[in-house]
Amino acid sequence: MRQKIVAGNWKMNKTLEEANILASEVTGMVADEVKGDAKVIFCVPFPYLLPIKNQLGNNARISVGAQNCSEHESGAYTGEVSAPMLKSMGIPYVILGHSERRQYFGEDGKLLAKKVDVALKHGLSPIFCCGEPLEVREANTHEALVKKQVEEGLFHLNADALKKVVIAYEPVWAIGTGKTASAQQAQDMHAVIRTHLASKYGQAVADTIIILYGGSVNAANAKELFSCPDVDGGLVGGASLKSRDFTEVIKGA
Ligand code: PEP
Repeated sequence: MRQKIVAGNWKMNKTLEEANILASEVTGMVADEVKGDAKVIFCVPFPYLLPIKNQLGNNARISVGAQNCSEHESGAYTGEVSAPMLKSMGIPYVILGHSERRQYFGEDGKLLAKKVDVALKHGLSPIFCCGEPLEVREANTHEALVKKQVEEGLFHLNADALKKVVIAYEPVWAIGTGKTASAQQAQDMHAVIRTHLASKYGQAVADTIIILYGGSVNAANAKELFSCPDVDGGLVGGASLKSRDFTEVIKGA
């Protein structure tokens, strides 16, 4: 059985004090109320990685992730943060290819393949995002686009490397819009991704890959989405910023 994961993407939100409070409230609620063994990841802004990691201590269920890293390992790249830096801080996960990075920072498949490589080289697990914009869904070419994103970002990896990657399917039209994909739409695309992985790596490998759904997941819809056979949890933006909401989402996994 695949591990369920619920990752909160805090994006560029919260002061340090607010971040500490959020992490500590969620940690307490998870310990007191959440049964099951879903893994929780706080994907926090760079400056909060160490404070939040230190606050969590040896928490077996909750860990931290970054929201991006450079494709370069070191050097004159002012303002960037590298995979070796994250590794040296003991950070296990990094989101790569979020639609906001693709859209606002021009990150494309070629660049993301490099970021995936550098993250894996330094022992980080990428949470690799893919997903189609609204016009692509409306043109009914969403499956082709998502397959292409997965190919561009991941298909150069061997099977052992791929197994360290978590995939997040996030339809762009559902991110931060309050418009969630139906459970059927999510399941259909997750099955397409898994079948595509199987075509390259074989079914046994494809069956081990964790595929998260992201896009306006909330307390009301999490359980139905996470119950789909190919949906292994979620990448959660807005609802991860409130401790009660996020805890309820985690309970759905
Ligand atoms: C995200 O940004 O990864 C996301 C899924 O956001 P939201 O849950 O707010 O739609």
